[in-house]
Amino acid sequence: MHSTKTLMTTQEKHTELEKIALEIRGFKGLEIARNCTNAVPGEGNPDTPLMFIGEGPGYNEDMQGRPFVGQAGKLLEKTLKDVLNLGRFDVYITNIIKFRPPENRDPLPDEIEACRSWLDRQISIISPKMIATLGRFSMAKFIPDVSISRVHGQARFVDFAGLKIIVFPMYHPAAALRAGSIMNEFIQDFNKLKNLLGDKYAEILEAKPQTTQVSQQSLF
Ligand code: URA
Repeated sequence: MHSTKTLMTTQEKHTELEKIALEIRGFKGLEIARNCTNAVPGEGNPDTPLMFIGEGPGYNEDMQGRPFVGQAGKLLEKTLKDVLNLGRFDVYITNIIKFRPPENRDPLPDEIEACRSWLDRQISIISPKMIATLGRFSMAKFIPDVSISRVHGQARFVDFAGLKIIVFPMYHPAAALRAGSIMNEFIQDFNKLKNLLGDKYAEILEAKPQTTQVSQQSLF
């Protein structure tokens, strides 16, 4: 698979991402796909340099067909706003698996595998400079065999289908909601992410297609 970034316009990216979303919504090859209320393909700005990948939809996401719209999503959105002054549609947000597992259990290996090519295609189309992984399942896609408590907040370059991407492992916001110490680390990691983005941060602001204008002066 090759990087498609330079070859695709924003409109083409939208079109390709929508094709993937249609495939996901029409897929019936997993029990979780047959039993869910709505599939959750992902959403956001296809031109963003920053992509977030979580684990899988929970109750609220399943009801709405959108990623990170429950309590964990509220924390993610608030931290994005407080630390980076970005809205959720300035970045792209998706998950490792696209269908809600019963009782929010961990995704199974065959579920991750069945959803893998959709996520890989989403990454290739968006071609982000940085992927922030939320929780251990999305971290393991890029950085296997490590413990999140040891490597969260430490960026590394990963070769992904011809792209060189900075992967930034973070705790899952649901874990931050469960423990105050993890909440502190989650916020600190967001601040590190802001520093790491550097120039790319300005790119995100420039690429803002659908949110309100933010004054550059208020950001630094
Ligand atoms: N948790 C996730 O990992 N993803 C969501 O979309 C919501 C909660």
